[in-house]
Amino acid sequence: MSAEDILKKLVSFPVLGGQSNLEILAWIEGYLNDYGVQITKVPNEEGNKASMHCRIGPAVDGGIILSGHMDVVPVAGQAWTTDPFVLTDKGDGKLYGRGSCDMKGFLACCLAVVPAMVKANLAKPIYLAFSYDEEIGCLAAPELVEHINTFYKEKPKMAIIGEPSLMQPMVGQKGIYIADVKVNGSAGHSSRIKQEVSAIHISAKIIQWLDNKMNDLVASGQVDKRFHPEHTSLHVGLFKGGIAPNIIADDAYFSIDIRTIPKDKLDDILNELRIFCDDVEKEEQKKYADFKISITENHPAVPPLDTKESCEVVQLVKKISGMSEVDTVSYAAEAGQFSEGGFDSVICGPGSIAQAHRADEFIAKEQLNKGVTMIEKLVSEFSHS
Ligand SMILES: [Zn+2]
Repeated sequence: MSAEDILKKLVSFPVLGGQSNLEILAWIEGYLNDYGVQITKVPNEEGNKASMHCRIGPAVDGGIILSGHMDVVPVAGQAWTTDPFVLTDKGDGKLYGRGSCDMKGFLACCLAVVPAMVKANLAKPIYLAFSYDEEIGCLAAPELVEHINTFYKEKPKMAIIGEPSLMQPMVGQKGIYIADVKVNGSAGHSSRIKQEVSAIHISAKIIQWLDNKMNDLVASGQVDKRFHPEHTSLHVGLFKGGIAPNIIADDAYFSIDIRTIPKDKLDDILNELRIFCDDVEKEEQKKYADFKISITENHPAVPPLDTKESCEVVQLVKKISGMSEVDTVSYAAEAGQFSEGGFDSVICGPGSIAQAHRADEFIAKEQLNKGVTMIEKLVSEFSHS
């Protein structure tokens, strides 16, 4: 099957982040089995979703992981002009469909080259690692990475995360942390604001602290010119609280979204935030004993990616992608998690992130071909001469 045929099949499985991916996984498993490749599944607790990994080539150290995700983002509310789950060739050199570029295109490139991988006389192994629930917070990757680390006796060295990058090697990614904050104050008549504790007023103080922290980091020189914006961002994008102008709000909720550049440590920022909140709590509990600020992690933090340009994987990906300039990305990907798991990681895949997550998502055929060529070159790089 060509990459385009495989992509057509993959796009036909409308698996959104959060949904069961067992059907698309079964198809991929069947395809791989046809070439004698056995997969290992890493299921979730309920057994309705699973990641997979497999090795092609010898069980020796120094192999490379090709990583992708099987889920896609929703299409509801978007003005599609084609059926999002039917890969459509409009004759303009582009293939339209949800996930065509993010990132079933890369999966299709990997799978299309599997017959060549199996036939090749590989000196070092190539692993495929496909996850689920990437689009709702890179949820499955930590378990998948750990499973790869414990399952294989040999140690893979590198990973390519095939997110759309127009085939450019991407060596950096910001970390992402999202949390929900709940503030419990005391209700009362608005005139009693000095006697009661307003959850909204306290929330405002915490939000101001976040804004100040962001500005302090920038002022102290914590910037990384490779990223846009070049600093860690601390942001509140959701706020709920209060019932009437003349009632002190006893509840308020807001979200925190922190995107860290690699040199800012998320744990340090969160520790400082916790200390600030603890101090506020102690102070306000003098007025209202049940006053509380609860911070709940929305999902495990996605660590940043910061792969040194001198790393073997960067040199390798430059060579096989044919693109010699590296850059960074500002979206979330599983690369930080693979890197944290001990694999030198680079993001590099066909298609543009500009086409991802929107109506009429497409991948240019030329990009799909380039993706296949990159994996073919990887096979020859990894083969005995
Ligand atoms: Zn993606």
